[in-house]
Amino acid sequence: MTVSLRMFASATLLIVTAATAAAPGDIPAPVAQVAKGAITRDTLRAPIRILASDEFEGRGPATRGDALARLYLSTALEALGYLPGGEHRTWEQGFDIVGIKAKLPATWDFKGKSGSISLKLSDDYIAGSGVQTPTASITDAPLVFVGYGIEAPEYQWDDFKGADVKGKVLVMLNNDPDWDPKLFAGSTRLYYGRWTYKYESAARHGAAGVIIVHTTPSAGYPWQVVQSSWGGTQFELPAENEPRIQLKGWATEDAARRLLKAGGADLDQLVTLARSPKFRPVPIDLRTSIRFENDISRVRTANVAGLLPGSDPQLKDEVVIYSAHHDHFGIGEPDKTGDKIYNGAEDNAAGCAQLLAIARAFAALPERPRRSVLILFVAGEEQGLLGSKYYSLHPTFAPGKIAANINYDGGNFLGRTRDLTQVGAGKSSLDAIAKALVEKQGRRLVPDQNPDKGYYYRSDQFSFAKIGVPALYFDEGTDYIGKPAGWGKQQHDEWTEHIYHQPSDQLNDSWNFDGMIEDATIGFEAGWLITQADAMPAWNPGDEFEAARKKAIAAR
Ligand SMILES: [Zn+2]
Repeated sequence: MTVSLRMFASATLLIVTAATAAAPGDIPAPVAQVAKGAITRDTLRAPIRILASDEFEGRGPATRGDALARLYLSTALEALGYLPGGEHRTWEQGFDIVGIKAKLPATWDFKGKSGSISLKLSDDYIAGSGVQTPTASITDAPLVFVGYGIEAPEYQWDDFKGADVKGKVLVMLNNDPDWDPKLFAGSTRLYYGRWTYKYESAARHGAAGVIIVHTTPSAGYPWQVVQSSWGGTQFELPAENEPRIQLKGWATEDAARRLLKAGGADLDQLVTLARSPKFRPVPIDLRTSIRFENDISRVRTANVAGLLPGSDPQLKDEVVIYSAHHDHFGIGEPDKTGDKIYNGAEDNAAGCAQLLAIARAFAALPERPRRSVLILFVAGEEQGLLGSKYYSLHPTFAPGKIAANINYDGGNFLGRTRDLTQVGAGKSSLDAIAKALVEKQGRRLVPDQNPDKGYYYRSDQFSFAKIGVPALYFDEGTDYIGKPAGWGKQQHDEWTEHIYHQPSDQLNDSWNFDGMIEDATIGFEAGWLITQADAMPAWNPGDEFEAARKKAIAAR
């Protein structure tokens, strides 16, 4: 009798706790107090001071600075009482970065029954190798136009319709259908609209290569950006058993128009066809062969992870993962002052510092959170989200047990703002938590002002979303308290032009940490609420990542 009464009492208590936690933004006073003590100017500034120092040499992958940064971060977690959260009970998860420099031919030739055409390297086409072997080649492959190259069951959209494109070169449009607000979130670029998706989609179908038709509106940037970003060495994770195409190509709109014309087709007509869900692949009367050598290099780096085990016997197998990349560009080309060290203070010593402050807050809680917390500093972000991608392919928790990811890339060093930008708003139940916490600070949560640019897919949280984990990512606000309207945007634009990815991204005395304290506090409180809630967060019904989540939950 006593036992069942006790059970009844504790069940009631649980219900009360759950009901309290169900009101998003409701943070108990002791938890808020802990955050106040742990997330301060000093706890944020100190890690930035060391990580962005010249002694850490810009933290380029596989350099001495990289090793120092990893050592610093893992010892900082150890001092806070965290357990090694990497592989084999170490603090790290090591992986190789493969560099591939493709030596492409000056012209790429296509022949058909009615004509032939050559595309000029750089002026007409740009490509990277899809394979990590010394030679890549395509032999006598037919061309086929596959529209957007998208298969999205949630929008009843399938550009392939079961067509056999094995061994073929696929010509594709960039972006995703953006003319109908009910399709692919309207003008918001979903993952289906990113070039990475296009190449993966082609590989899944066994294609030999891809040519994406570049237009400035559909890419979001001019041809020169394609030229500069694909002209040098491409960095990847080592090939595992995933399908791969031989060649990842781009063509200018003009070159694509000429190419398709030589193959008896008209680009404008094909674009019109591609805008219908009834679209089927259109064979182009051209075949092509291409062969080129690759210079391959390999270096090794590592993610750093610390674990705070949860207190609930059941829920501690589930985890909230905080991520921030620790790498930057190392030592490189000098700027006009002769500085060669790319210190990366904002990008991303500031993110690492926020994670350490959040880690400190969790460690200082009077009661351990119910779910576990993993603090994950990922490597190789600047080479293409490689560390987070590696973690997502080799996770230390089953994806179906990862409750959420909260990612920090950058930090506000200009003072308090009335707003906070949520990149990827409208996707999951995390929005309600974020909104409530931001409003509790007397601020407002605003969606990403450039949803067509697809920023949600360009930072480490995307690696988690892709394996189905609901993920939160904030960008700084722009409405600064005590500053005139437009000041924030002006500061941001100047920063992008003069500091972003340059040796001048350094800590200095002008940094104001008041805004960063608030932004880090929101991340801590959001994570705490997720660790305590009975249910894990979920994608909104019909979201592009919902299917991956269902699969992950079923497999857990
Ligand atoms: Zn970054």
